[in-house]
Amino acid sequence: MQAAEPGKLVVISGPSGVGKSTLVAQVLERFNSQLKPSISATTREPRPGERDGVDYHFLGDAEFERRRAKGDFLECIEVFSRGHWYGTLWSEVGPSLEAGKWVLLEIDVDGAQTVLDKVDEVIMIFIRPNSLEELERRLRSRGTENEEAIRRRLSVAQRELELGSQYEYQVVNETAEVAVDEICQILQDRGLFND
Ligand code: 5GP
Repeated sequence: MQAAEPGKLVVISGPSGVGKSTLVAQVLERFNSQLKPSISATTREPRPGERDGVDYHFLGDAEFERRRAKGDFLECIEVFSRGHWYGTLWSEVGPSLEAGKWVLLEIDVDGAQTVLDKVDEVIMIFIRPNSLEELERRLRSRGTENEEAIRRRLSVAQRELELGSQYEYQVVNETAEVAVDEICQILQDRGLFND
């Protein structure tokens, strides 16, 4: 039997609050059996409705550190200065790629850089808001962060928008439907089959 051609890695980044998760969920639905999400590990607390092993692997600080020291992460990073770790586990990526599936990573710009350094072919897509004002409005309407956290996320966002301009593909999330179509078209152009 012939081995399946290995899958490819797709990285989607964008500032917090730009609507990445909604777009990613719809893209995953369209490519259901071909494209698998990498479930990141994090030390932050789950938000209401988030489930362990589904939205994230929620790890305690000590467990995260233990796995980091063991080399379990393809990349990991302390995303916001005051605090929480996020990372992509090799176990979320390697087996799927070997089985010929594509894997989608929703990670920040610094983590994405590490992935680019370690993996040969990565499809890099950056999601942009219409404007910084629109991003602030979205972050506030989500109602999950306090004022200080919103301020911190906005200043991180400014840096991310600058670094994101180096990504191969730029998608503006003005209308979710259009943005999802654009992302799917990019993936098809790069060789991913639709179900
Ligand atoms: P949130 O706390 O809103 O779920 O995510 C905050 C940020 O962490 C997002 O911008 C997201 O892209 C980033 N992030 C989530 N998982 C990972 C990961 O595994 N690695 C890295 N580097 N960033 C991540």
